[in-house]
Amino acid sequence: MKEEKQFQTESKQLLDLMINSIYSNREIFLRELISNASDAIDKYRFLSLTDSNGHPAKEHFIRLEANKDARTISITDNGIGMTKEEMEQNLGTIAKSGSKDFAAKFKEAKEAQDLSIIGQFGVGFYSAFMVADKVEVYSKSVGCPAYKFVSDGKETYSIEDTEFEGESGTKVVVYLKKDTEDINYSSFLETWKIEELVRKYSDYVRYPIKMMESHSVPAKDENGKEIKGKTTEVSEDKTLNSMVPLWKKANSEVDDKALAEFYKNKFDDFEDPLVSLKLRVEGLVSYDALLFIPSHAPYNLYSESYERGLNLYSKGIFIQEKCKELIPQYLKFVQGLVDSDDFPLNISREMLQNSPAMSKIATSVEKKLIEKLKSMSKNEPEKYEKFFSLYGDYIKYGIYSSYGMKGEELKDLLLFHHTADDKLISLKAYVDALKEGQKDIFYASGKSLAEVKLLPQLEKYKKEGKDVLLLDREIDEFCLMAMNEYDKHPYKNISSVSAEEISKEEKDKLDSLTASHKRILDDLKESLNGKVDEVSFSTKLVDSPVCITTKNGLSLNMEKVLEAQPGAENNPNAPKATKVLEINADSPLFGAIAKLESDDEIKKYGSLLYNEALLLEGFDIEDKKEFVASLNELLLKSAK
Ligand code: ADP
Repeated sequence: MKEEKQFQTESKQLLDLMINSIYSNREIFLRELISNASDAIDKYRFLSLTDSNGHPAKEHFIRLEANKDARTISITDNGIGMTKEEMEQNLGTIAKSGSKDFAAKFKEAKEAQDLSIIGQFGVGFYSAFMVADKVEVYSKSVGCPAYKFVSDGKETYSIEDTEFEGESGTKVVVYLKKDTEDINYSSFLETWKIEELVRKYSDYVRYPIKMMESHSVPAKDENGKEIKGKTTEVSEDKTLNSMVPLWKKANSEVDDKALAEFYKNKFDDFEDPLVSLKLRVEGLVSYDALLFIPSHAPYNLYSESYERGLNLYSKGIFIQEKCKELIPQYLKFVQGLVDSDDFPLNISREMLQNSPAMSKIATSVEKKLIEKLKSMSKNEPEKYEKFFSLYGDYIKYGIYSSYGMKGEELKDLLLFHHTADDKLISLKAYVDALKEGQKDIFYASGKSLAEVKLLPQLEKYKKEGKDVLLLDREIDEFCLMAMNEYDKHPYKNISSVSAEEISKEEKDKLDSLTASHKRILDDLKESLNGKVDEVSFSTKLVDSPVCITTKNGLSLNMEKVLEAQPGAENNPNAPKATKVLEINADSPLFGAIAKLESDDEIKKYGSLLYNEALLLEGFDIEDKKEFVASLNELLLKSAK
């Protein structure tokens, strides 16, 4: 019985898009189909270990056949095969893997005309339609009848009963398109071309990729003697790939290009990775690993749907995808695989997760990654900056979420903006350049770089030539607080009241100012009605009339970040910063206020000064209506 079905609209659009615009590189279709065949064999082998009755061990192969007359190339495997339902599910829906996410992202990307995102999905099987106008899939799952799937990759597909040689497996037959002026599809039928493609993309596939090849040899007579000038055709079954998995090859045999190809193929990326790391570790635990840092953050890295983890192999046999125990949360952007003989094959997932080998390998992988990043920051600073711009927040998160315990290991991976120049600086470089007598590492924090730079508190540091780190990410301050200090140099927020010790002279001046203007300070504080805990004179300001500082270790910026956390709005116990409105006694504005006689007049300035300071700190005016009313009143007065 033959069933005709329509592709879903989304699938249709995607198909069209993919075939016509995303992949310019048509030849990868072969790699995708071979990779599917290899995955199918992996799945079979895994079952044969756990359920050897239904899936007896057998010799596995992937066979390629090119037929020039029919213009077909076929890829056959004796792997797990597909039932009718699986065929429908897996091949009838494009980009089945993560399809829900995909549909949403696809829509978004299309609206934003950002098609690069599509390339981040595995659309493997359908890449065949880049070169084919028809594809047939014959497949059989153990103990089930065989089925045939046929599609032109446009509107419909059909599924019908068929015959299949062997207990299980799949054969994909690709009917090549007609050659055009630009594209020579026929080249995919040439033996040399197929050999080249297999070596280029699929050499590490662990099962033999076989092809019958015929070539001419000198003809021989009955006695086995060569007949001069005469040749005959002989066929030979050839294995085209070297089969040793890339991670099992000697480090010296594997270059960055091979690693990049592997990464793109295995992790469905269209860009080379930013970092590739091949590890062969022998010792307390032994393992091989390939680790990659993508050169763009995976599209869903920031969402809950993102699954971290490395693929796990044991003795070359695939065990588990995305094993999260192998990589800490803060390095979740790392992709790759680990293969270790130390994992027994036949144990349950729970036992595997808790096995001592797992945590030892995870610790070792983390250490190697940090080492790699450290050496990159030293030797390839530009590349490191790119890494940091993509994933720096995760490194900070690693420090913060470990309550600073990872601070020692990770501190030298941090980079910050600073006031001395426009480049990024490491903490070590900051400390190395400290001025005589300066012990503290000063920082200012805000919502964005542009806004931090506006902080009035910076004036004094600039004047004194002291460098200040400019923190513009939410996590920054929390990260520094978790570490307390860098090699005995404490971090100091310049917006904290006690950022810097003041001299006796300054202190005396402050005391006498406070004594003589107590009434003004009290009036302003009263007018602010609990919005600030204190109004005092400042030693931090040069030109600006006011700024806001805090006292209890929680900065204004941190308070705002905490307020923005889910569930914080209604929490009466949410931590609050102790705020101080600091006034510049030398500013002309204060001079003018000091001349005012009535308390009411003075009080009118309270909210204006407070809101001015808030604005410069990068926050919104709290009560806009009141602010505008006070401002208008003053404007009116000055216009009279
Ligand atoms: P992906 O491989 O990224 O999941 P594909 O579109 O390439 O996406 O394939 C979709 C699904 O079809 C696969 O996940 C697999 O379940 C099934 N499939 C494809 N090729 C084969 C094959 N040769 N043998 C068995 N199943 C296959």
